Amino acid sequence: MAYLTLKDINKIYPNGYHAVHNFNLEIEKGEFIVFVGPSGCGKSTTLRMIAGLEDISNGEFLINGTRANEMGPREREVAMVFQSYALYPQMTVFDNIAFGLTLQGVDEDVIEEKVKNTARILGLTDYLDRLPRALSGGQRQRVAIGRAIIRKVGVFLMDEPLSNLDAKQRVTMRSEIAQIHRETGATTIYVTHDQTEAMTLADRIVVMKDGYVQQIGTPYELYYKPVNVFVAGFIGEPPMNFVKGVVKGGKIAFGPNQLDVTKKLGAKAAQYEGKEIVFGFRPEAIVLGEQEDSYVMEAQVELTEMLGDNTNIYITAGEEKAILKVDPHDTPEIDAAIKFSVPVKEVYLFDGETENVIE
Ligand code: ADP
Repeated sequence: MAYLTLKDINKIYPNGYHAVHNFNLEIEKGEFIVFVGPSGCGKSTTLRMIAGLEDISNGEFLINGTRANEMGPREREVAMVFQSYALYPQMTVFDNIAFGLTLQGVDEDVIEEKVKNTARILGLTDYLDRLPRALSGGQRQRVAIGRAIIRKVGVFLMDEPLSNLDAKQRVTMRSEIAQIHRETGATTIYVTHDQTEAMTLADRIVVMKDGYVQQIGTPYELYYKPVNVFVAGFIGEPPMNFVKGVVKGGKIAFGPNQLDVTKKLGAKAAQYEGKEIVFGFRPEAIVLGEQEDSYVMEAQVELTEMLGDNTNIYITAGEEKAILKVDPHDTPEIDAAIKFSVPVKEVYLFDGETENVIE
């Protein structure tokens, strides 16, 4: 039996807004689950329903197979870490971390041992006497996480815990959260709009859009087997290139290039004759020049961006645009006419109407 089960969960707010539709998920003990999607897609709402901070309008939430819809947050044994760290400014790091246990009247010796152990996991041992104002943003966030993990709860819920940090701190904290998860083995549900955070932290990712789950899978599955245009475009940076076109004689146009969809679809291509199709390829999946078993395309270089470990090439093919990612040593001149190849196995074709991938 799964540890946590979300069965056809719906949220309809009192004003009638249907924020979450038929959310289904089973979570195993110890998993790190990330909810990702654009702002407003229902991630926090779902997390808050799991936390017991928001009523579930429809559907069932089970903990170890027992219905938990009516349980309060404490009974559910969850701890939540929010965006804002909400530390007590007049209390030391030690007292902030110890706060929950102190309230429960836990023995001082036990508290001391637990705080020290938590501080060790979080690298806060040398800061226990400090006040929050004497800490960096990343350290404050670690204290907030410490306050949550010191309680032996079943599930950690984190709502965009890194969004108040600068870019560099975010990267550091991200790997620290992964490390904390490895050390504690705690089941974690983490909300973010940042696909990189999702990809680097998650065992499994739930991609949401407009209140609907789009796909649930490992980072690998989402990257290599996206089920639709939305997921394909959301995961990966720069995003996947999409060429839309109506299939004529088995081909769609990408500027002056004719892309033969039968190469990918075989006989199935006939079903799409006269219909719109979306041809997707990732910027990093291309090879400059001509190559076998590939779609070979001609384009014009509009702009190049040298980023150190790679170069992004912004190309045009007639009226169409795309981005290619290459080794900086292969950076072409601006305005150059280039040829590049997309291996057939790196191409994703989507139905233009449903936007679902064509298997
Ligand atoms: P996310 O976390 O993905 O950014 P939320 O779960 O916060 O999204 O919100 C999902 C949708 O529900 C949004 O359109 C938001 O405006 C709406 N919403 C959130 N809270 C309420 C509320 N209390 N009443 C009505 N609508 C709400």
